[in-house]
Amino acid sequence: MNEYLKRYIELKKQFQETEGNSNSVRALYDFKEKLEQNEDKQAKEVLVDVYDLLDFKKDAYELLCQIGDRSDKKALKRLGTLKDYAENLGNHYALPKPKTPEEKQREKERRVQLGLPAFRYHPDPLDTGAFKQSEEGVVCYCCGKTTHIFYTSPFFSVEEIAYLCPVCIASGEAARKYGGSFQDDYSVDDGVDDPEKLDELLHRTPGYSGWQQEYWRAHCGDYCAFLGYVGARELRALGVLEEVLNDPMWDDEQKKMIQESVNGGHLQCYLFQCLHCGRHLVWMDFD
Ligand SMILES: [Zn+2]
Ligand SMILES: [Zn+2]
Repeated sequence: MNEYLKRYIELKKQFQETEGNSNSVRALYDFKEKLEQNEDKQAKEVLVDVYDLLDFKKDAYELLCQIGDRSDKKALKRLGTLKDYAENLGNHYALPKPKTPEEKQREKERRVQLGLPAFRYHPDPLDTGAFKQSEEGVVCYCCGKTTHIFYTSPFFSVEEIAYLCPVCIASGEAARKYGGSFQDDYSVDDGVDDPEKLDELLHRTPGYSGWQQEYWRAHCGDYCAFLGYVGARELRALGVLEEVLNDPMWDDEQKKMIQESVNGGHLQCYLFQCLHCGRHLVWMDFD
């Protein structure tokens, strides 16, 4: 057995035994990055396995196309399986690399550089996909200025608004001008007394897209920050699965659904974090 394969088996074992905790995922990412720099054929073969395990299906398929031995029946069969996955899923559901505090800080700086305003209840709206970037730029309906970052999540208004820039959302101008909101005021947790907080959430915070009605969680007397779309695997990798299950919101059956949820699947979880105590909570729905 070659050294790459040996290392892969070790890391995979660690990944499985810890149910994919953050250290095991980070170790796989480090290994992946090393293998990507390596031209050795044996390293490339193992890299296919690493891609596959982390659900980079497209990368796994494309690499196996380059290096796979098509006269080998087993390799050919795997190529067929990976092709289906690659076509249906791409790399879209790859397990994200857990971020270190330094990486989080760098991302924060990047957002400032891009001129993205700070959203208290939706701290990384580029990461969650609430905003998309456009090279050539689009025109914001609200202010009429060209913007390279535009909003893609729901905006509830009578008029159909194609493009909104982050500034018009943060200032509340978009909500004011069109009498709209980014979140339904009936589908938020109770326990927040300050009407100013509700106003910020409904009228000055980018929303997210659920399968059904989006719902916003609250904790410690305030709305939580929306962190993104997750399934059980992502919750495990972040080390918060137990924490989100320990929530009076969910009965036993729903807890089981959260444990079986898959990001992008029929059962989808939406991750929130309390801005005061740091606790993680989820909302869940299905298609
Ligand atoms: Zn604007
Ligand atoms: Zn809290």
